[in-house]
Amino acid sequence: MAAQTEESDTARDQTKAEQDVDQVRQRATRDQQRLDSGAVTSPKDLENLQREIASLAKRQGDLEDVVLEVMERRESAQERVAELTERVTSVQSKIDDATARRDAAVEQIDGEVATVTKEREVVAASIPADLLKLYDKLRGQQGGVGAAKLYARSCQGCRQELAITELAEIRKAAPDTVVRCENCRRILVRTSESGL
Ligand SMILES: [Zn+2]
Repeated sequence: MAAQTEESDTARDQTKAEQDVDQVRQRATRDQQRLDSGAVTSPKDLENLQREIASLAKRQGDLEDVVLEVMERRESAQERVAELTERVTSVQSKIDDATARRDAAVEQIDGEVATVTKEREVVAASIPADLLKLYDKLRGQQGGVGAAKLYARSCQGCRQELAITELAEIRKAAPDTVVRCENCRRILVRTSESGL
């Protein structure tokens, strides 16, 4: 935007400078016509007129230099605008690309959430209410993980190895008994890899 403002500012400066040149040129033309017409006869007036024509010619030259200088500034402003416009286009296309990828990822995640939520509902419906209540309570307390696998004598929730006495108790417990980790209190899920 700054570059575009500079471009339009220099365009205005150029128009103004060109108008200045035109004014001086018109005045010089008028003076020259008066001189050529022969209407001015007094030597003093003739001298004044010629002096003015010379002075206007110098002024016109100076103003034309101003026009050239402004045109150069305008040209570099135009180049800057073109360069920045190209960069804006390139950055915008990166934004568009990233937005499209984000939208696709959100859509996929939403789909997964819907599937997993449905699966959880089915599983939750098959679990006794008091156990589900305990699980949800632990889940709230333990960063979203209410139950953990007992793997090679370790709780996979807190990564602590269970004490020998504790393992012995778990070994004795009936398969449908809810066993908990001594350390983090999570529900322990026994498998063939539990190391019991
Ligand atoms: Zn634990």
